[in-house]
Amino acid sequence: MKKILVANRGEIAVRIMSTAKKMGLKTVAIYSTIDRNSPHVKMADEAVCIGEGPSNQSYLLADKIIEIAKKLQVDAIHPGYGFLSENVDFAIACEANSITFIGPNSHAIEIMGSKLAAKETVKAYNIPMVPGLDEAITDIAKAKKVANTIGFPVLIKASAGGGGKGMRIVEDESEFESQMNRAISEATNAFGDGSVFIEKYIASPRHIEIQILADQFGNIVHLFERECSIQRRHQKVIEEAPSSVLSDTIRKQMGEAAIKVAASCNYVGAGTVEFLLDENLNYYFLEMNTRLQVEHPVTESITGLDLVEMQICIARGEKLPFQQSDLKIKGHAIELRIYAEDPLNDFLPSIGFLEEYKLPNGKGIRVDNGIDEGMDVPIYYDPMLAKLITYANTREEAIQLMINAIHNYKVKGISTTLSFGKFVMEHNAFKEGRYDTNFVKKYYNSELLKKQHQEEAEIAAYIALQKYLEDQKQLKLPN
Ligand code: ADP
Ligand code: ADP
Ligand code: MG
Repeated sequence: MKKILVANRGEIAVRIMSTAKKMGLKTVAIYSTIDRNSPHVKMADEAVCIGEGPSNQSYLLADKIIEIAKKLQVDAIHPGYGFLSENVDFAIACEANSITFIGPNSHAIEIMGSKLAAKETVKAYNIPMVPGLDEAITDIAKAKKVANTIGFPVLIKASAGGGGKGMRIVEDESEFESQMNRAISEATNAFGDGSVFIEKYIASPRHIEIQILADQFGNIVHLFERECSIQRRHQKVIEEAPSSVLSDTIRKQMGEAAIKVAASCNYVGAGTVEFLLDENLNYYFLEMNTRLQVEHPVTESITGLDLVEMQICIARGEKLPFQQSDLKIKGHAIELRIYAEDPLNDFLPSIGFLEEYKLPNGKGIRVDNGIDEGMDVPIYYDPMLAKLITYANTREEAIQLMINAIHNYKVKGISTTLSFGKFVMEHNAFKEGRYDTNFVKKYYNSELLKKQHQEEAEIAAYIALQKYLEDQKQLKLPN
């Protein structure tokens, strides 16, 4: 393998290319006209414009990407996350054109891409699952009966869903049918597949996922857990590793369960098995993501491994260079996703011109970034600009480092989740590790953040005034 094409944009394209460069591989970027000046384009050895801004005219053009790869004699394609990363046809097209797809085989992508097929496959392995109906709902009367048996509230979920989309909570029977119709139409629009099913809505769950690595020789290890319970719209904003609630015993059980899930579909490569953990520390299988995950850096920090390097080595047919017993957790890592969103306005996208953009740096601080000062944040893509990761010996230190790093992260021109990150880091429930996926609903409202902003502005004004008075005094001294 000498040359890889990165079929993605933004921070993840930059992240993948930096490892490729480290490994002595040549890189090819693809980009849309909107992304012409993006960091991932500048970083690549070769870059090809693939179309207009909208993803379906650029980053989702599988055939065109394969054509470019062939023309430039690319050996492998890394799909990143999102876009074509979980697209079965794309993985097959790569295989058919003798280009290595850096990811699992198409069979595993197909099974795990459907939450229903995944449950069906995993069933035989004795993995605990959220109570519910493990088939697409077609008969409403029957579905209502099941919902009554498992008890309201229930969650209607799109089988093909992802990124927190295609989920509807149903509080009681009277709204079942209308919520279901909405879920189906949402799923059809977003994923082209209207199959929905129902799960018990777990009241106060923590989202705990296990990173796994599998080589082509049937060796599978897990790289422990990530806790991703700080979410808005069922999508993660802050992740950490390790979780503050797992005992070694449960960690080991969940790790072994994740390995079984991977084995159930003959998984090869890096993957993530997601679970919900209830208040009594019972865990339930949610889904498997057959790709590199957004929050992989926290796992890299606590294990000292480069997951993109591992993906490339596995794709080249190398054996895993370690066994489960060689792996240990060291220290604590936290990640904050920097979304171009306004935490004061329901986390709605905040696009615009990046007037100022300066990154923090220092020991224990990592920024995976995909944008530069002076650029526009485009409306066409996921609004995540970068990820801020801190790593220290203890959780307390990692939190403090995060607060300092947020302070030194300068963004002007748009709103971001930086201020929300600070709010969370300073909240007692988070500091004490007592939180679940309801954190935002339970503790956060924009008024609190506004108040905090106001207090900080007052303090800053006070400090400025003191400084002014001091300066005046000094100026006057010579008299
Ligand atoms: P992760 O699963 O890695 O923790 P997200 O759930 O935020 O992170 O998803 C990562 C990216 O992939 C986001 O850009 C999201 O919009 C996109 N994504 C995930 N699943 C799907 C899907 N099934 N269809 C379309 N986009 C998806
Ligand atoms: P996606 O494919 O969008 O990532 P997931 O099934 O992984 O969908 O769920 C995303 C998030 O939605 C979870 O992390 C959790 O916060 C919430 N969620 C999913 N299923 C349930 C459930 N049965 N009960 C409560 N919350 C759930
Ligand atoms: Mg998920």
